[in-house]
Amino acid sequence: MSDLFEATPRARGDVPAERVCLKCKASFPSDGFGERLCKRCKSGGGWKNAALARGPLARG
Ligand SMILES: [Zn+2]
Repeated sequence: MSDLFEATPRARGDVPAERVCLKCKASFPSDGFGERLCKRCKSGGGWKNAALARGPLARG
């Protein structure tokens, strides 16, 4: 019996690689497994800012 079962699949995904952003589906250089959003989406969401900058559309 050999105890050669030290393979850790967890470390495999925890490496810097090109991933796809979960928000905009754009490829970006991810720093690790925890990095799932591209820099743009992580920055704070440009789409949110755009919606706010639009101003009051429905104003009586
Ligand atoms: Zn993104």
